Amino acid sequence: MPETTIQTPVAQAPQADHLHRWRIEEPNGPRSAGVCKICGQTKEFRNWLSDMDFITNEEHRMAA
Ligand SMILES: [Zn+2]
Repeated sequence: MPETTIQTPVAQAPQADHLHRWRIEEPNGPRSAGVCKICGQTKEFRNWLSDMDFITNEEHRMAA
């Protein structure tokens, strides 16, 4: 009987004391990697999930 090594990453991302400033990498396939400019945390963004557009919009405002 094989061992089950899959674990749900529940406690992997502790609550941060700041709003993550995601810097989204150039789209590379269906997903983009985002890196927080403050704490360096990484997160994967699905490009088809355009509901999260407010994040990139914020980035554009900051860069203006
Ligand atoms: Zn952060």
